[in-house]
Amino acid sequence: MDLARTIKYEEELDQQFAERIASEPGGEGIWDCIQCGTCSAICPVSIYMDKTPRRIIGLIRAGFKDEVLSSISPWICTSCYSCTVDCPAKIKITDIMFVVKRMAMQEKSYRRFVIPDIEEEFVKMVRKNGRLTESKMGIKVARKSGIGNLLSMVPLAWKLMRHDRLKLFHTERMTNIDELRTILEAMETGPRVTLPAKPSVVPTGHHQEVTA
Ligand code: SF4
Ligand code: SF4
Repeated sequence: MDLARTIKYEEELDQQFAERIASEPGGEGIWDCIQCGTCSAICPVSIYMDKTPRRIIGLIRAGFKDEVLSSISPWICTSCYSCTVDCPAKIKITDIMFVVKRMAMQEKSYRRFVIPDIEEEFVKMVRKNGRLTESKMGIKVARKSGIGNLLSMVPLAWKLMRHDRLKLFHTERMTNIDELRTILEAMETGPRVTLPAKPSVVPTGHHQEVTA
């Protein structure tokens, strides 16, 4: 695994990035990481990631925002919580993966592949109808991933339809969608408790070296 870029000056890094992550729920412990690698060793899917969990934490602290937000690792994370349970510094790594995904979606800086597409459509659909219609989500995701993909799903869709397992023109909807919208609105616009972030341990004038 290699770094996407080598920096020459500290200004090339985003010095506020770690503080932003640390101010999000779950991110507050990020400065306690001792880079022991337990999270990467325990993670069942780290072999499929482009950056191990330990490296994601190290890159966040060092200010490599672009590399972290474009990494596929948070999207590969299955939220099994093994890393969080075993971390000797009690860092909520799983929550940090969620924070990174949220930021990447807000800034539209995530790498385009099927998992973010699924999550994007899932959120849109649940926001709109309160429930998920799998057939429609499948079609939307397949369309995003190319016409070839969409066509390759036709035989399976036909089989499912014949056995009444797929309803193309049916949309699942919550009865009281307004209640869900009120909850979502309150979450997004209501008051937030921000925990104080610990000061950066990266001394000014230096950058932290992060290896795989
Ligand atoms: S297990 Fe915890 S302390 Fe060790 S590298 Fe991972 S996040 Fe850091
Ligand atoms: S929660 Fe995610 S990062 Fe942590 S061990 Fe599980 S899959 Fe890996």
